[in-house]
Amino acid sequence: MTAKEAIVIGAGIGGITAATHLARRGLHVTVVEKNAGPGGRCDRFSRDGHTFDTGPTLLVMPLLYEAEFRALGASLREQLQLRRVDPTYHLVFDDGRQLALTSDLKALQEQLEAIQPGSFQGLLRYLEEGGRHYQLVVDNLVNRDFRRASDFFNVQNVALLLRLDPLANHYRHMSAYFDDPRLKSAFTFQDIYMGLSPFEAPATFSMMPYTELAHGVWYPRGGMYSVVEALLRLARAAGVEFVFNSAVERIDIDSARAQGVVLAGGQRLAAEVVVANADLPYVYQKLLPADGMAGALARKQFSCSVISFFWGMDQTYTALGPHTLFLADDYRENFESINRGLGLPANASLYLHAPARLDPAISPAGQDSLTAIVPVGHLSENGEQDWSALRDAARAQVFRRLRTLGLTDFAAHIKFEETFTPLAWRERYNLVKGATHGLAHTLTQLAYFRPANRHARYPNVYFVGASTHPGTGVPTAMVSGRLAAERIMDELGE
Ligand SMILES: Cc1cc2nc3c(=O)[nH]c(=O)nc-3n(C[C@H](O)[C@H](O)[C@H](O)COP(=O)(O)OP(=O)(O)OC[C@H]3O[C@@H](n4cnc5c(N)ncnc54)[C@H](O)[C@@H]3O)c2cc1C
Repeated sequence: MTAKEAIVIGAGIGGITAATHLARRGLHVTVVEKNAGPGGRCDRFSRDGHTFDTGPTLLVMPLLYEAEFRALGASLREQLQLRRVDPTYHLVFDDGRQLALTSDLKALQEQLEAIQPGSFQGLLRYLEEGGRHYQLVVDNLVNRDFRRASDFFNVQNVALLLRLDPLANHYRHMSAYFDDPRLKSAFTFQDIYMGLSPFEAPATFSMMPYTELAHGVWYPRGGMYSVVEALLRLARAAGVEFVFNSAVERIDIDSARAQGVVLAGGQRLAAEVVVANADLPYVYQKLLPADGMAGALARKQFSCSVISFFWGMDQTYTALGPHTLFLADDYRENFESINRGLGLPANASLYLHAPARLDPAISPAGQDSLTAIVPVGHLSENGEQDWSALRDAARAQVFRRLRTLGLTDFAAHIKFEETFTPLAWRERYNLVKGATHGLAHTLTQLAYFRPANRHARYPNVYFVGASTHPGTGVPTAMVSGRLAAERIMDELGE
């Protein structure tokens, strides 16, 4: 019997994972990717001996990675050489005070008590809540597929959801644990990883600081792109075929089903199953026949975007830890200007990554590879944002922040610079509005309320990736790939 054909559009994390599961279950799978290599947003480039991860820089939620590699018949620890990063972050506040977040609780206690006496007790209570949220979310929301309304709306789930404090606003909820605004921001900034503001995120997301301190933030040798390389090895071993430099122009639909895909050059590839890993709103807008869903998705809330700078430096900056976060005092204003004005805050909270502290091989000896990520609004409809001016303003803000650490001659040591603005995110990966995390992770866009991973009308078209359930992040994209593959195999009756 010949194997059934499946086509996966996009070699992002979710696409490679789904492809591998399907191939391991006996399908013949071809992944068609518009770019020259795999990884999607989890990308990498090298220049003059410097290597940069251009998307993810933090391996968080290691237990999810372990489970997803196990589900692929592999071991995370055998596939990747992991090193725990502790302190996880060096936080720098506007007044110059610093806080090193560490799982060494004694060291953390001394630092917190110096900022706000009595606050360590607050942290312990906060972590207890975060641990409860983490377990409930992973067991009952992340690892579940909500195929029917009744999978979500049932008595057991209502009781569960209430224990997640979904209606409490994350930032406001922090008053139960801390008075000092610096501490409130130190343990909520992680919401930005979902592309969300702590002023709109549910308190459920206290699970993120918990997992970072309890399970650790890790660095795979070679950088986050090593995760892509590991997944690619597993995919190829399972028999998945990859076609790069080949954009899908549309999904070939007859009245009721997908017949396959049509490539930009006009070539048709036939398949019994089509899995779209490209950003879900883009797939509805550009690859599927026009229907109401494309418009409905465009009206949904999208995550923020970022301007990223990649600098090859002619000297080493040992004073910079692997992950430095500059947190602005006007924290609320930061998020509001991103969400409402869709631009750059006057005093942005921003992130600096110095991976050579963990892995000297990624830079030439005596030199450094530094990345700065500045969160900004996504692309606006009216096109009024001037991205070269915003990029220059963002760069000036990074330099200003570095000066507060005594790095006054930074600009003079830059050998080269590469930048990504929201326009680049859209262009490179077809992300609608250049929103780096896809559809936002607000309460009304999570779990059952996130778009379904199968098309309502064409039953052999499936979706995986950050804009599907469970949402953004490398391990969660792997989960989405597995959940979709399980559904496909159930529905093929195999
Ligand atoms: C700046 C940044 C920082 C991040 N930091 C972290 C982090 O530290 N830790 C973490 O866990 N996560 C992080 N993330 C999130 C994480 O990178 C993503 O959630 C995840 O990689 C998304 O994977 P995906 O499966 O949705 O695929 P995508 O990455 O969206 O890949 C989809 C693929 O489809 C391809 N494609 C699109 N259209 C077509 C077409 N027409 N034809 C063929 N191919 C097409 C694209 O080129 C792309 O390769 C970060 C993301 C960004 C952008």
